[in-house]
Amino acid sequence: MYCPNCAAEYAFGLKYCKRCGTNLGEGGPTSEFVPPAPAPRVTGAAWVLALATVAITLGGLGIVFTHAFDLMRARFPGDVMTGNATPVAIVMLVFGSLTVFGVVAMLMRLS
Ligand SMILES: [Zn+2]
Repeated sequence: MYCPNCAAEYAFGLKYCKRCGTNLGEGGPTSEFVPPAPAPRVTGAAWVLALATVAITLGGLGIVFTHAFDLMRARFPGDVMTGNATPVAIVMLVFGSLTVFGVVAMLMRLS
């Protein structure tokens, strides 16, 4: 006898092919093994990722901009600014934004 699926020879009376596992029983090839359907893609996780991305973008940029603009103006009226804080603020803005967008890019790769 030969397996209807992989053509391996098998002894009469075997219920399953010892090479591929095909059911050799009374049903024959009609009751062959059906692979389980792949699990449906979890769309909930995508929504969580999207929300997290938006939150990190708005929150992160908000923090960066707030602190950068705080640096550029006197803390209270009459406060004497020693030195020019604008270059530092610009560096903060650039690197802060790059960090935020880097995190967002990594989140996008996950989804
Ligand atoms: Zn087989």
